[in-house]
Amino acid sequence: MSTIGIDIGGSKALSVRLADGEVVEERHTAAPGEPPLDTALAAIRDVWSDDVEAVGVGIAGLVRWPEGVFAWGPHVDSTDLPLRDLLHRELAIPVVVDNDANVAAYGERVSGAARGYDDFLLVTLGTGIGGAIVIDGEVYRGESFAGEWGHIKHNPTGRLCDCGKRGCWETVASGPALVRLAREVISLNPEGSFAHRFGAGPISGEDVTAAADAGDEVARGLVAEVGAELGRGIANLIAIFDPDLVVVGGGLGSVGESLLGPARRFAADALHGGNHRLSPPILVAGSGARAGAVGAAYLAASIR
Ligand SMILES: [Zn+2]
Repeated sequence: MSTIGIDIGGSKALSVRLADGEVVEERHTAAPGEPPLDTALAAIRDVWSDDVEAVGVGIAGLVRWPEGVFAWGPHVDSTDLPLRDLLHRELAIPVVVDNDANVAAYGERVSGAARGYDDFLLVTLGTGIGGAIVIDGEVYRGESFAGEWGHIKHNPTGRLCDCGKRGCWETVASGPALVRLAREVISLNPEGSFAHRFGAGPISGEDVTAAADAGDEVARGLVAEVGAELGRGIANLIAIFDPDLVVVGGGLGSVGESLLGPARRFAADALHGGNHRLSPPILVAGSGARAGAVGAAYLAASIR
């Protein structure tokens, strides 16, 4: 018996099949601009097996719980979509649909960095920033959409965000923010070694973090700059929630120390009363970049 978990982000989907707590199959699907129902069905087919008992979906954006209606998202081109009911009609097995960060938090508490923690925050870092709040072991939802801190007004006079507002946190701490910094370096010094490393083609956040991991000093500096913005935002969250732990996941968030080292330093620096309190640990998600998909599969196992 197994369950399927899918994480639908702004530019790609990841699907896993989980059996006895182990990922037995995993697929990436590029899905730029595809309708979420088509993306979900293709991702399910990719890892399908006849013993699948339930399907869980995490999707970036505003999801009404428990109905599993995708209300709106800045990176997904669909609104008020009853995704859970549509998938259930297609598959005729139990389906659960939640926000991508919420399913990641669920999975990280079952089997990940947050095991044993009842009060923690999860920050996903990819095309944008997502978030989940866990209080007394339960996801806190507010009316429905709590934890959308990617759109905290980090700098009111800052850049225009994909959500249509200005200066949101995710405009300076996300994959696209890292790519923008890289492009600025290249345009300032088109003959430099950094420009030559990337050539004239498209650049992804993963390309820049891979260059940082390979020891490129310019790339390390750019990743550290995004890490600093991540840390400043996390300090604000710590001031509000005083959590026991902050877990960072998502494609960019799973990079590791080149990003989280600066994030930890800037979070500790920005936190008030810093000499009289401990900043909570800031850890990479145990399931790394696949925390959303794995969490969705665990959530599916809980409803089958
Ligand atoms: Zn925004």
